[in-house]
Order: sequence, then C-alpha cells, then structure tokens
Amino acid sequence: MAGRKLGLSKLGRTAKKLKKLDNTYISSSYTRGYDFFMDHGDGAWVWDVDGNKFLDFTSGIGVSATGYNNKRVVSAIRRQAGRFLHMSGSDFYYSEEIELARKLASLAPGGRPKRVFFCNTGAEAVEAAIKLSRYATGRQNFIAFLGAFHGRTMGALSLTSSKAVQRAGFGPLMPGVVHVPYGDCAHCAYGCDYGTCDIRCVSYIEDVVFKKNVAPREVAAIFVEPILGEGGYIVPPPEFHVRLRELATRHGILLVADEVQSGMGRTGRMFAIEHFDVVPDIITVAKGVASGMPLGAIVAPRDIMTWPPGSHGSTFGGNPVSCAAALATIDLLERRLVKNSERMGKYIMKRLARIQDGSRSIGRLTGKGLMIGMEIVKSRKTMAPDPGLRDKIVNRAFWHGLLILPCGSTSVRFVPPLIIGREEADTALEIFEECVQLAEKGC
Ligand code: PMP
Repeated sequence: MAGRKLGLSKLGRTAKKLKKLDNTYISSSYTRGYDFFMDHGDGAWVWDVDGNKFLDFTSGIGVSATGYNNKRVVSAIRRQAGRFLHMSGSDFYYSEEIELARKLASLAPGGRPKRVFFCNTGAEAVEAAIKLSRYATGRQNFIAFLGAFHGRTMGALSLTSSKAVQRAGFGPLMPGVVHVPYGDCAHCAYGCDYGTCDIRCVSYIEDVVFKKNVAPREVAAIFVEPILGEGGYIVPPPEFHVRLRELATRHGILLVADEVQSGMGRTGRMFAIEHFDVVPDIITVAKGVASGMPLGAIVAPRDIMTWPPGSHGSTFGGNPVSCAAALATIDLLERRLVKNSERMGKYIMKRLARIQDGSRSIGRLTGKGLMIGMEIVKSRKTMAPDPGLRDKIVNRAFWHGLLILPCGSTSVRFVPPLIIGREEADTALEIFEECVQLAEKGC
C-alpha cells in the first residue's frame, strides 16, 4: 500500500459529525454499507469531507457513467441552466426534449419507428411501462422474475422480487404479477443442466404458468432485466431472451426490457439486450443516461405508444437540464465510452480470473462490459455462499480506498464510470486482491 495514500485509517471529524446528523434526520430505510461522505469527485476519483481520496467503482450505482465532473457534460448543464431550468415537457415544447427523444428512438434496437415518454427515475420508467402495456394490450397481468429489481414505487415494487425486505410491510401490492425463476444456469431453480434443459426457465412459463395460473391472453407484458442487476449481475444463457421473445410474440404479450441498470453502454453495448440479438417492445432507461441528472424514459414503437393526451404525464419528466446532460452523455458514449466499457470490461475480467485462481473464496465471475459481478463463497469446492465474507471484503475495500457495492445474496459488483483506463483498473484490482487476502485470513 506504500505511497498510494488512498482510503482512511479512522473516520474523520467532519464525517463523524455528519453521521450523527444523518442518523437523526435521514430516513431509516436507507442502506448505508460503510461511511463514505462525499465531498467532490473528478473522473473516477472521489474525495470525502475530511479530504480522503477513493477510487469509485460504484459510480453512484451505475449513474455517473461519464465520471464525476465530466467537462463536456458539466458545460452542457451550465449552458442549459443559463437559459431555463424548467419548462413542463408534458404541457409545452422545447428542443432539448425533442432532440433527446429522437436520439433515444434511433438508438433503441429494432426498425419500427418509436416514441419516447420522459420521467425522472427508473421506477417511474417502469411505472410508465406497466401503464403503457396495460393500455396497449387491454390486458391486466404481468410475468416478472424472481431476483429481479424494478424499483420501489407500488407498481414497480410489485414486479420487484430481489429481497423480501423491499416488499415486507407494504402489501397489498398491485395484483396480477406472477414471478418465475430467472435464467441463472449456475443456480438453476429447476435443477437442470444447461445443454439438456431446453431452457426450462422459459418453457415453464408456457407449460405450467399459462396452464395453471394465468391465461396468456390476459398477460399484458413480461418484464425482464437483460442482465440481472441488483439480483447478482447474472447473465442468462444465450437462448433465454430469444425464447422469451418467441413466447411473448406467440401470445401477443409485450416484452419489456428493463435497461435501467444495464443500458446506456454499461455492458459494452448501448443496450444489454443487444448481446442477445433480441428486439423488445418497450425499453426502460434511467441511471447512466444523464450522468447523474435525474432522468428516466421509456422507448416504444409508435403503434404501441398510442395513449391519448392526458393519459400519462410528468411535471419534471424530461427536465431540460437533464435532457442537455443526456445529449452530452450519449455523444460521449457513442464516440468512445461504449467501446471503452467493452474493452475495459474484458481487461478487468481477465485480471479478476487471475485473482480468482489464487483465492479460495472467489466463486463465479459474472456480468458483461463494466457490469461485473463476483460471487464470494465459503470454498470453491462447495461454492456455498459466504455473504459475511462478502460484506467484510466490501467494507475493507472502503478503508483501503476502493468503493465497491454488494449485489445479490453473496456477490460483489464492480460498476466503475465508463471512462476508466488501465491505470485505474490496476489500482482497483490491486486493492481488491489485497482486501480479499486479508479477509480470507480473518484480518
Ligand atoms: N430497474 C432496475 C433494473 C434497477 O436496477 C433500478 C435501480 N436499481 C430501478 C429499476 C429503479 O430505479 P430508481 O432507483 O431510479 O427508481
């Protein structure tokens, strides 16, 4: 660690003071894994309120895609803020919103002409997709996946099935959602082996759910994360989305790809569903789209987005400053960052595989591009989950100057800004390896 000067040895005075106030005034529902108090950032680096420096491999849960203080994004925000901060896009027109809609419509996969609805968050995008699928199909029910996260508002929460605590105490939720196991071959809920399973995770919906639980003609949409996010950064088998698409088409059901976490270049493609050569009907977007300015959206073909004026809207949705930030962000993504995500993702995966070789507790490596997950296990023989050790590693990394997050029941996730280069990746992995070794020794 000599000469690196990252992290901290004890919590600073300002952080301690803020922690007390936070404990008094901030909602008790927030999950604070460790005590990082943000002061400012630059690129992939962040400083806390006591001047300690960290490398951020969380990018604020996949939001700060272009890094902190990206000059082009900040100057687009400044320019727009100097003109006007707000004009309700549900009631009036402004070019930033129109231009961004045109851009998103052209980026979303599939040749059908599209429209865009703007909101502020991922959950709001999911709510919009729920409403649009009901409106467009005249049907009420939904299929979603166990382990999936779609947000915390009541409709989105009804689709979410990531952790019981997220739903406990909030019922009754929106009726009509059937959850089925995700395509997770390493932990197949049906006990099948990939190669001989005939993609049971999809055929089960047809063979069992549609026969015993809900008639397919009453299902409006299947909501699916192209790569499972909060649920563990799990990449399904290649046939999973293809078969889902076929199933949905066969029954006139809409396929909604929730790209809130996996979209906007995160996985080395603009949208993660592109890895599977599948065209969904509706795409949800948020998080990284505007580099940290709040913005959500859904993109859908024009013949699906036919809801009439007044049927859905949002006061703040498509805020002009957020739209300006998104246009600058997408320009950077298209020029360099989607490619960088693919390239750096491969590099980090390779290095993690080497770290895995020398470790007894690193199980499966998962994910794509810069959406990388790693399971922490008791031993590589049994592959039994070890969430306690996972939490220790995440916590230790913080003290050593690397911000990472947990996901799933026993995984660590690496979600750096898409701008990172080799030097930052090497520093992060050096710290991470050291923390795994220390945690394995019980220090
Ligand atoms: N969908 C997915 C796939 C997500 O990962 C998240 C957030 N983790 C959401 C929806 C909800 O987004 P938000 O927190 O902006 O409401």
